[in-house]
Amino acid sequence: MALYVYKFGGTSVGTVERIKAVAEKVKKAHELGDQIVVVVSAMSGETNRLIGLAKQIQAQPTERELDVLISTGEQVTVALLSMALHELGCDACSYTGGQVKILTDSSHTKARIRKIDDARIRASLKQGKVVVVAGFQGVDEDDNITTLGRGGSDTTAVALAAALKADECHIYTDVDGVYTTDPRVEPKARRLDRITFEEMLEMASLGSKVLQIRSVEFAGKYNVALRVLSSFTEGCGTLITYEELSMESALISGIAFNRDEAKLTITGVPDLPGVAFKILGPIADANIEVDMIIQNIADDATTDFTFTVHRNDFQRAKAILTQTCAELGARAVTDDDRIVKVSIVGVGMRSHAGIASTMFKTLAAEGINIRMIATSEIKISVVVDEKYLELAVRALHAAFNLDKAE
Ligand code: ASP
Ligand code: MG
Repeated sequence: MALYVYKFGGTSVGTVERIKAVAEKVKKAHELGDQIVVVVSAMSGETNRLIGLAKQIQAQPTERELDVLISTGEQVTVALLSMALHELGCDACSYTGGQVKILTDSSHTKARIRKIDDARIRASLKQGKVVVVAGFQGVDEDDNITTLGRGGSDTTAVALAAALKADECHIYTDVDGVYTTDPRVEPKARRLDRITFEEMLEMASLGSKVLQIRSVEFAGKYNVALRVLSSFTEGCGTLITYEELSMESALISGIAFNRDEAKLTITGVPDLPGVAFKILGPIADANIEVDMIIQNIADDATTDFTFTVHRNDFQRAKAILTQTCAELGARAVTDDDRIVKVSIVGVGMRSHAGIASTMFKTLAAEGINIRMIATSEIKISVVVDEKYLELAVRALHAAFNLDKAE
């Protein structure tokens, strides 16, 4: 007998009809003799609606009360799904995070799970029940309700799978898996059968919004086999797992991109110890996250320093940098907020040379100018002008044969 944790996102439980369809699916799996724990999100749009209500009362809602409010979305769906299962003659029992005892720290609206008590769930499973658990929520040491951050139901599911030592954690969503790139940009994008945790983290943090990043980190840490699949169509989805020999054949697993970048350069900075800190210190103090950083080699006694930030932080970062420029006696600040980052991701890179040169050759053939380059062990990122995004993604997709079956 296997134990599975299934998680259904907001669109999958967005209407009563869809909740009934989820119940059918769960019932079928349960009838095969497996133990099933289901984690659900709130109905789609519900969390936003609740936050909207709070904001009509308080511009900055009190975080403790906000958690009490927004955790109700998931309480609705666990109850409705359990009822739908009962209606199908399938025994089921719903629990809120607090009832299970998903213990978190006290950071309201972004709490982290500390411990999960599996006793109640185990007891219900033993009685042959499907257990339905509210995603996204827990309680702290003092029994205050907490939530795990937007998209947190993924993390609830993975954490439960780890605590229960489940055979697999299935994330049912509105896409049928993880793709080589965004199919809206490259229609030839292909669903991957497998991807490693590391690759998924790079893809997710680069804007492939299939899973909450934290849930992937969690799954990697506790070695939870994670599968992303569609709740609307049949199929085996994408398995996120540790590296295996058979995966070595693919050099590149996917192409991620990020449209939200902006670039700032400070030129003619004195080339002295402490300068990088003087430039980036005030940016960090303003809570602005910096992504890529490049410092040129100095030919006279000065150097140029370039970094990228999220477009939302662009104006603030520019104001700070302009002030730093005056303080350091640097030459000028230049900027560009019409840039994007395109990255190729793959564990195959570790053991193969020439991947970067293939990437650069491909972009050159399309006449695309590369403005910045950064690399990590399993990723190469370039910054290019915004207008080249689609062209760059498609050209790289073809160059690395991503449209061909594995
Ligand atoms: N309902 C929460 C949200 O919308 C949690 C989740 O869906 O995973 O962010
Ligand atoms: Mg989600």
